[in-house]
Amino acid sequence: MASVRFENVSKVFGGLVAAHNLNFEINDGEFIVFVGPSGCGKTTTLRMLAGLERPSYGRICIGDRDVTLDSPGRRDISMVFQSYALFPHMTVYKNLAFGPDVRGMGKPEIDSRVRSVAETLHLDKLLDRYPHELSGGQRQRIALGRTMIRQPKIFLLDEPLSNLDAALRVSMRSGIIELQKRLAVTAVYVTHDQVEAMTMGDRIAVFKDGIILQFDTPQNIYQHPANTFVATFMGSPKMNLIPGTLDVRPSGAVAQLADASLFFASDRLIDFGAQPNHEVEVGIRPQDIHWVKDAPSRCTHTLRGSIKAIETTGPETYVTIAAEGAEFGSRFPSFAGIALGQSVELAVDPNDVYLFDRKTGRNLL
Ligand code: ATP
Repeated sequence: MASVRFENVSKVFGGLVAAHNLNFEINDGEFIVFVGPSGCGKTTTLRMLAGLERPSYGRICIGDRDVTLDSPGRRDISMVFQSYALFPHMTVYKNLAFGPDVRGMGKPEIDSRVRSVAETLHLDKLLDRYPHELSGGQRQRIALGRTMIRQPKIFLLDEPLSNLDAALRVSMRSGIIELQKRLAVTAVYVTHDQVEAMTMGDRIAVFKDGIILQFDTPQNIYQHPANTFVATFMGSPKMNLIPGTLDVRPSGAVAQLADASLFFASDRLIDFGAQPNHEVEVGIRPQDIHWVKDAPSRCTHTLRGSIKAIETTGPETYVTIAAEGAEFGSRFPSFAGIALGQSVELAVDPNDVYLFDRKTGRNLL
């Protein structure tokens, strides 16, 4: 069993709390992504799981075993770091074969594993080269290959695609997932890239300031973000937040923005102890904003604004709109014949509107 459990785990460096009271479980065979901005504690948490950092408080279990005090070598974990250490005097083949070789694996088994991993990571044509004859991205793939070839119970990856170009990142993402599923290993993957998190994770832990704000499936994180941080961090272009006040009535609540009033049925709202004129932020994702004339009939919320900026990428047009005392982004499928300064009427489906407490950031729906 290679499930993982963190119980009340914290890590303090001097006066700095790098990880604060983490409690979560990872199931056997799951692909988990730790995502968050720089310095939020992702790597520290990964290193605690690897045994490279000892928790200041709490307990870490792998399967039924408490490994909190175990050395890295006793955990059957393999880790790829942001910086990849390869043996300079060995070919790619030998670099990949090194781990299984020192463990006494037979030559035919080593050969079959090296070739399978090399194929997955597009390294098959580079097996006779030396590290100094390779690009940074190619070296990074070898470091990844060395982790995979060991077939540990758990493999840990810390930003392993950060040196690759955009196209290679995309193909490597699916290669890593495919290999992880084929080997049926548990994987924990650290990234600050929300697209990588959304596309790779069975579940995602969103970190901020040493705390996990939400640990859930990509779909739930996107559709039901716990708070404004998760809502704006996940999803690109990011969600717009428009300030307003909320008036809660028995039949439902009305969010009053600068001009528009948006109604929320009472069965959608959580019980959050609303104050009169409760300060809120209304969240709308750029792709959920439509022109009134093209909007589906379900888009019954309307907003008026004017065009502040237009950026056309070809298949899509990003438009910045000033409305409701705020500026927000929207995304349209193609150039829509609009001009700077033009007044526009926008429509949004009420089901695509989010509502957050302005002070705490909490999702109120
Ligand atoms: P990044 O994406 O930049 O790698 P991260 O989310 O992985 O960031 P961590 O490396 O876990 O963040 O660091 C969390 C906090 O702990 C940071 O403020 C960092 O400076 C601090 N930190 C990490 N390792 C140490 C250490 N050995 N000694 C002191 N502080 C540390």
